[in-house]
Amino acid sequence: MNTVNTMKNEKLKSILTERREKLSKEILAATHEIINDEEVFADSVDQAAADTGRSLTVQMQNRERESLAKLDIALKKIEEGSFGACEGCSESISDARLLANPATTLCIDCQTELESERQRFNNRR
Ligand SMILES: [Zn+2]
Repeated sequence: MNTVNTMKNEKLKSILTERREKLSKEILAATHEIINDEEVFADSVDQAAADTGRSLTVQMQNRERESLAKLDIALKKIEEGSFGACEGCSESISDARLLANPATTLCIDCQTELESERQRFNNRR
């Protein structure tokens, strides 16, 4: 691995680690919120509103857990030194793309090609 890539990965690693820490804190806070939210309402409308709020929190939490898992994959790949390389063509994936979706394994060209191939496949059916 060359120096430029190492430096680039160190920078990405600190950004992703920071993001991961923030996300775990949010998940933890949301969990507490659900546990503390177990009050019983006399008014059934209030109860319904509370239930809706709770299921939205759970939905949001699931999404955050997914993002967390993706960040874990990305951080593991940085450790292994395989982060940022396209699995399709071995070119490096752009920083902007990696930061938008840390778990991506394809560069924009390969992704576009894959999607248009999928489209062709779907059109045939
Ligand atoms: Zn590629």
